[in-house]
Amino acid sequence: MKWKSHTAIARAIAEEMGLPDDLEEELCEGSVDPDRRPDAAMKVDRMGRTFIGRAPHHDPPAGIIMGHAWRSREAYLRGDDRQAVRCLGRALHYIQDKSVSPGLLDRSHDLREEDIADLVPPREAVRKGIDMAVCSPLFVRECVRAVRPRQDPREAMYQATLFSAAIFASVLGPPDSEGRFISDYGKARRNRRCRYAAAGMAAASSILISLLLTQPLALIAGAAAVLAAVLLDHGYHDLREEAEWFGIRPR
Ligand SMILES: [Zn+2]
Repeated sequence: MKWKSHTAIARAIAEEMGLPDDLEEELCEGSVDPDRRPDAAMKVDRMGRTFIGRAPHHDPPAGIIMGHAWRSREAYLRGDDRQAVRCLGRALHYIQDKSVSPGLLDRSHDLREEDIADLVPPREAVRKGIDMAVCSPLFVRECVRAVRPRQDPREAMYQATLFSAAIFASVLGPPDSEGRFISDYGKARRNRRCRYAAAGMAAASSILISLLLTQPLALIAGAAAVLAAVLLDHGYHDLREEAEWFGIRPR
């Protein structure tokens, strides 16, 4: 996308969210930063060798966007709003470029970006994005995943605006979890401890039984119990991430 489009989306979101002028400028600067100071990413050349190069904008690694979203959230929690908005602008740049189909020919892509530059970010998309936002890193990741390259300039602009507004409202959502979350997290941590203890006991007892009965099949049952405990643990990692989103660090 052209800088004009990136900054138009930033201004539309800033206006809708009532951002002070200095923060609006910071968001605009952040929204064009990746074109001025590119992010580095691991790449693979034709010979299969890995090297560090410029991160792609139309098909960016999700980790780059999530990294900027996390840095923004952390700055926001420590009260550094300028840095928060700047990092967030960087994250949104990739969401916006990812919305535009790169096309088979460079020429068709350039024309598409020129058409998009004539469009105004739809206010309806800004509002819808803010309304659907959930203050959670899992929501941000879902948004990153949902963005698809669009050929139609209007669709590209609509999608870029919608998800930019949604991610903005998610990252700069409520700074604290209002108590709700802490009890969920505490519960999950307790369950996790129990689950590992149970899995450990199942593994130990299966080894004991197999030694006693020289029955190696019991070992398989023990391994299955350990695997089940690890699989069940996925919910815990989600919750742990959400806790960190609200500045709660596990002890
Ligand atoms: Zn770009």
